[in-house]
Amino acid sequence: MVVNRKLAGWATAFIFLAFSCAGCSTTEKQEPYTARDFKLDTEIIITIEDSQAPKICSHILQRITQIEKKMTLFSNDSEIARLNAQAGLKSVEVSTDTHYVLSRAVFISTLTQGAYDPTIGPLVKLWDIGSGLATVPSATGIQKAKALVDYKSLQINNDSGPSVLVTRPGQVVDLGGIAKGYAGDEAKRILLEHGVLRGIINLGGNVMAIGSKKDGSPWRVGIQNPLAPRGTYLGIVYVTDKAVVTSGGYERYFIKDGRRYHHIIDPATGYPADNSLISVTVVTKMGIDADALSTGAYVLGLTEGMKLIDSLDGVEAIFVTNDKKVYISQGLKNNYFQLTDEDFSYDE
Ligand code: AMP
Ligand code: MG
Repeated sequence: MVVNRKLAGWATAFIFLAFSCAGCSTTEKQEPYTARDFKLDTEIIITIEDSQAPKICSHILQRITQIEKKMTLFSNDSEIARLNAQAGLKSVEVSTDTHYVLSRAVFISTLTQGAYDPTIGPLVKLWDIGSGLATVPSATGIQKAKALVDYKSLQINNDSGPSVLVTRPGQVVDLGGIAKGYAGDEAKRILLEHGVLRGIINLGGNVMAIGSKKDGSPWRVGIQNPLAPRGTYLGIVYVTDKAVVTSGGYERYFIKDGRRYHHIIDPATGYPADNSLISVTVVTKMGIDADALSTGAYVLGLTEGMKLIDSLDGVEAIFVTNDKKVYISQGLKNNYFQLTDEDFSYDE
């Protein structure tokens, strides 16, 4: 099992890559370099301009591999797997990476009142969406798994080194809704350490837009039309130095008796979040926050989700509903978002 099973190679947001700048001298011109790899169960695409670009990209990909090894649920060796194996038994020493991601996960759980919950694992395992073998679980099975979901029961310590106790037997931590966001932050940190001040890192639709374009104008990040084939965007968000992360029920799902069951589970019901939303994109500085918040806001639904986003400084969002309406948070209203697909409209 890997941390996140979004379909490989299909980005939920994509970028209009124009590094070029009208006023730049041609002698200084450097071609953008693109590195691609498959990690965290998704296609990673890094695009930067630097004479050392191949070396820097390889460094970033190594770091992402390291994060994956610690956080994947698909290997018994990962820190998260070891943590889960000791649920109800004992506290497990973890790296500062895992300690930080879990601490931030619990923080976002508190903000979203448990709509995002990193202990969602028993339900994710039960539904097994994306495996190709998924069926609708029994109501009793769902109730049992749901009773184990409780971020408040995690004991995250840092007294004599970072450690975590998953307090109840059967509980399962799943960082699938946050790990790619953290990987994006780490990728960005490495770029900045190497003096690369602009570029794009796309982790299967979790986009880190670093700095601005060469001419100082914002990056343009396309937002996937949830009702159209992958690669079709419904609008463009203009960002400088921001993470742009989309959660959508269209990303992984199965259909049974005409009903669609997707991979974002509502901890309150134990069923895939069932509201009017078909996607939520969060725009904020840190990838880790954008990732967990987009999952959480999707579960919260339009009204509660937007209320939360508008209450947070430096966090913006685009909500899309199944009746093709688009709702944007206050801070995007000054031309930071452009709706380009005529099938969609803003709600009056
Ligand atoms: P994302 O694509 O970032 O919205 O994350 C979805 C993934 O996060 C799923 O594949 C699960 O592994 C996990 N997940 C599903 N529902 C939740 C939830 N309510 N809170 C936290 N993680 C979740
Ligand atoms: Mg997420």
